[in-house]
Amino acid sequence: MSGATIHVVGAGVAGLSAAVRLADEGCRVALYEAAGAAGGRCRSYHDQTLGLMIDNGNHLLLSGNHTALDYLDRIGSRGKLQGPSAAIFEFADLKSGERWRLRPNDGRLPWWLLDPRRRVPGAALHEYFAPLGTLRATARTSLRDVMKCFGPLYDRLWGPVLLAGLNTDPPEGSALLAGAMLRETLAAGGKACRPLIAVDGLSACFIEPALACLAARNATVRLGQRLRGVEFAAGRAVRLDFGPQQTRLSEEDAVIIAVPPFAAQELLPDLQAPDEFRAIVNAHFRVAPNRDQPQILGVVNGLSQWIFAYPDRLSVTISGADRLLDVSREDLATAIWREVAALGGLGRELPPWQIVKEKRATFAATPIQNARRPPARTRWRNVVLAGDWTQTGLPATIEGAVRSGYRAASIVLEGRGKAGVRTAAGLPREHDA
Ligand SMILES: Cc1cc2nc3c(=O)[nH]c(=O)nc-3n(C[C@H](O)[C@H](O)[C@H](O)COP(=O)(O)OP(=O)(O)OC[C@H]3O[C@@H](n4cnc5c(N)ncnc54)[C@H](O)[C@@H]3O)c2cc1C
Repeated sequence: MSGATIHVVGAGVAGLSAAVRLADEGCRVALYEAAGAAGGRCRSYHDQTLGLMIDNGNHLLLSGNHTALDYLDRIGSRGKLQGPSAAIFEFADLKSGERWRLRPNDGRLPWWLLDPRRRVPGAALHEYFAPLGTLRATARTSLRDVMKCFGPLYDRLWGPVLLAGLNTDPPEGSALLAGAMLRETLAAGGKACRPLIAVDGLSACFIEPALACLAARNATVRLGQRLRGVEFAAGRAVRLDFGPQQTRLSEEDAVIIAVPPFAAQELLPDLQAPDEFRAIVNAHFRVAPNRDQPQILGVVNGLSQWIFAYPDRLSVTISGADRLLDVSREDLATAIWREVAALGGLGRELPPWQIVKEKRATFAATPIQNARRPPARTRWRNVVLAGDWTQTGLPATIEGAVRSGYRAASIVLEGRGKAGVRTAAGLPREHDA
């Protein structure tokens, strides 16, 4: 390629996947990240209180997340994801003490529903078809408009699954987003919903191998570089302002803005983007789990929602956790540990713990917020957006973030004549579908 540089701003999963794809295609890539480390909302760090490497939050992938898995193939780290060879989800009900295993069969035809041992106890067969209502979804419909958001199966399956996927109280969630998520996973059969976890940590799986891959392709990666402003002229970006360092853009250069929505709005005038967010709280306990502790345990009728077991710790995820932001960390740790200890057969004494509150973990997956998501193309010829909050058709997930990164990279590549018509500034003119 000519002397053009593709400047990727933001080294979360979206920016990294865009950068890796472009570098794979032989583009000269410069990646900038405001923080001292790459990874954004998907990262590991050494926690001093625990004396352990932990993740900012437990992240679950499903085997139907094809684009995320392609990204891991590209950076050579798919092997760092672990999970059972079949779709098996263990659940416990804290109120009734019941335990069960959900075991969908591999294929699309859901014959597992005919076997009560594979289903949720106490729920009627017809309740499994409640999400079919999402087929009627429009841009304005909430889940409560198209499916019954109560009843035994809602409490024990649909509620927990949809809350985890949307990070938004399901009744107010976008029926379109919920439908898209379910179509690609549960409705596609067990082969698409094997749970996968980065057992050695998020950074070791999603971030560090990507940085190594970029280094091997001579991409420049600058950490601790916050983009403070963009100068525009004649319909294109002409200068990137990193404070002391200013980068003038050539006619051929392009920019991918892969920062969170509130940061993108500061950089790009008049950008409409989601502006309502939902929190996720994670509790980490330094304790060796008992041997029979499942790798992932869904919890019903408790404060805890999902318990993840690692060799050196138990970590609990609570989505849609805005109501907990004002609860003291000590109170949260004590209340969550009580549940974890009861379910895991562990002593009541609180082990070393850490509470991580991610206030703006994801945009609120409501119809109104979904409608605010912008397409990848912007009104500036050489500026493209990426991020889980752009129009991916999915809730804010790793799968969505990677798709957005790939999409941004494709738009840049199309503009470079790899496909489509090249414009003066290197980007094609047609609009996103
Ligand atoms: C606690 C938690 C649990 C989650 N669980 C799951 C899960 O189980 N499964 C799943 O699929 N997804 C999960 N997610 C969502 C997933 O983490 C995100 O969808 C994904 O990481 C978003 O990546 P991104 O690149 O779009 O954004 P980000 O990760 O936010 O990356 C944006 C980057 O831009 C940088 N930046 C900001 N401003 C500037 C600037 N001006 N200049 C330069 N850089 C800048 C930021 O520092 C950041 O590194 C979870 C998220 C959280 C927080």
